[in-house]
Amino acid sequence: MEDPDGLGRGKTPAILLRGIVKDYETGDVPTRVLNGIDLRIDQGEFVAIVGPSGSGKTTLMNILGLMDSPTAGSFELQGRDVSSLSADQRAEARGKTFGFIFQRYNLLANETAVENVGLPGAYIGMPSAQRKERAVSLLEGLGLGHRIANKPPQLSGGEQQRVAVARALMNGGEIILADEPTGALDTARGQELMARIRKLHRQGLTVILITHDPGVAAQADRMIRIVDGEIIIDEATERSAVPDEALQEADSLPALPSLAERGRITLLADAAEAFRMALHALQANSFRTFLTMLGIIIGVASVVAMLAIGEGSRRDMQQWMSRMGTNVLRIEPGAKMSYNSGTLTLQDARAIADISHVQEIVPRVFSACTLRYRDRIYACTVLATTPSFIRAEKRVMVRGGFFDERDEEAKAPVVVLGMKAYLELFPDRSDPVGKRILIDGAPFLVVGVITVSGGSADGRDREDDIALIPLSTGEARIFRSVRINQISVTVDDYVNVEAVQDEIRSRLNRLRQQEDFRIFNQAAMIETNRNTQSAYRFLLGAVGVVSLLVGGIGVMNIMLVNVVERTREIGVRMACGARSRDIQFQFLTEAVLVCLLGGVIGVLLGMLVSEFGTIGQSKAVVTLAPVVLSFAAAFVTGVLFGFWPARKASQLDPVVALSSE
Ligand code: ADP
Ligand code: MG
Repeated sequence: MEDPDGLGRGKTPAILLRGIVKDYETGDVPTRVLNGIDLRIDQGEFVAIVGPSGSGKTTLMNILGLMDSPTAGSFELQGRDVSSLSADQRAEARGKTFGFIFQRYNLLANETAVENVGLPGAYIGMPSAQRKERAVSLLEGLGLGHRIANKPPQLSGGEQQRVAVARALMNGGEIILADEPTGALDTARGQELMARIRKLHRQGLTVILITHDPGVAAQADRMIRIVDGEIIIDEATERSAVPDEALQEADSLPALPSLAERGRITLLADAAEAFRMALHALQANSFRTFLTMLGIIIGVASVVAMLAIGEGSRRDMQQWMSRMGTNVLRIEPGAKMSYNSGTLTLQDARAIADISHVQEIVPRVFSACTLRYRDRIYACTVLATTPSFIRAEKRVMVRGGFFDERDEEAKAPVVVLGMKAYLELFPDRSDPVGKRILIDGAPFLVVGVITVSGGSADGRDREDDIALIPLSTGEARIFRSVRINQISVTVDDYVNVEAVQDEIRSRLNRLRQQEDFRIFNQAAMIETNRNTQSAYRFLLGAVGVVSLLVGGIGVMNIMLVNVVERTREIGVRMACGARSRDIQFQFLTEAVLVCLLGGVIGVLLGMLVSEFGTIGQSKAVVTLAPVVLSFAAAFVTGVLFGFWPARKASQLDPVVALSSE
């Protein structure tokens, strides 16, 4: 094999650096931290890198671990030129090739030991069951089988460092990079860790270890001394014999579990993992999470509640309008702008009965009368009308029935009592049907009791304060002459109202020779009502959008704080092989989760408020649409306002992130 540098020993080297230079831009002049490093490390070597503080050891290690790129020079990793790799490819290679052990352990405080160890597995797409199994067996091999469910704060320094070692072994990477791994441990724990690292080396791993402790460096096979960014010594060590007794469970340390054939990880499992980690992160800061959610909760709850209240009043209005009849015309006597009352007669009513689209004609004569039953006397309005009344009006028979055409023809003395009149005459609520009452002294037979549909059963409605008799009977027995107060005309469909109205006007004009009547329809009222409704809905929608916006800004604010606070965690994840899109997905998931949780609580709260909320007499009605809508809005808010912080997190430089406090 060609070997121009004289560095080669025949095989493909694990690491081959040529002329590596690293400059840092500090102010105007770049500082040269690495100055032409040539280095070959073969597979299975155990190399210690030593040198004074600030000499460039960590910088070199970051370049070796694909955390950082050199300013100049070439780098072949296991025979592959890595200078042209994209950031994602570097992350992937990092996750599969290297295991990092840091001085400060760098474990994720919110995750258990087994989850910390399994973390790198997630980034190379190891299915979670397999990840857990391997993490557990690694921890057991390091004598931490009883600590797998503990979180780092519950572990001693030595135990944390063992968890970190297990994590470095998780993906079966062949090169262990350790930066001052014993720096934070006492001598005994440091010895134990070194014994463990030597054992890993004997099992075939390549170990590159930075230290300033000569005793530690002496345990490696080869020592490289760096001063001012240059290698000044590269020599084999005279290995001081360190007994492996320091390692208590030395014999029980099993061979590395082999990396089983990896199953394909699904997108769903990926999302589930991000979801699980997001949940942990949110739990770790539950009070802050709650405060963040509050904006979303208030926004969603207010949308749900206000729309429910709006819907309630809309339905009431609709019911009222349908009771008033939007397809009903009213003809009343008297010319427009005149006090002359005019008259309408049954002849007028008959003249318009055959107009097409007309369903019912209901003439009405109102008269104030006195009702009497035994010793009860009650004064109310008597309405003389035709049997068509019961078909045209949305009324409900409470007792008995309505008078019919035969009664009308026979001028029968029958009466249907409105609920209110009934209750006044029959306070004991006994059955009035078949009883005789007097109307202005004339005897009438009660045939039924009527109430407004959807009205209250206690006769509170103004329209219940009447007694109804056939028009012909009234003409014969009560009134001296019939002056019709109103003719209502029911049209088959709302859209035909205008045409029918025109036809009525022309027929009555022909018949009466003058327009001494007025025709009313509800079209104008419907229009006004529709406008009010849409303005109202727009207002509610605007309030909802504004409150969700405010909530979303709150989420964004907290997520930005989160990113800053967890910069180091992001660095650790990147060292474990996370690509920037993994980081982005992670933080986005958190934001969406906050918003969705806020959405759920908001919906429930909104429904609770709706339960008690009313406007006037209208009961709030929760419908599916606003619930789904506000929930979707919460989701969109999470995505929109989580996107930027998540992106910010994903674009952090791994080295900067990892070295942040
Ligand atoms: P060592 O690990 O050997 O103590 P480092 O590799 O951490 O040294 O640092 C080498 C030099 O590079 C130091 O002088 C340090 O100040 C400088 N340095 C490291 N990182 C940066 C950076 N991101 N920007 C500017 N200078 C840096
Ligand atoms: Mg350092």
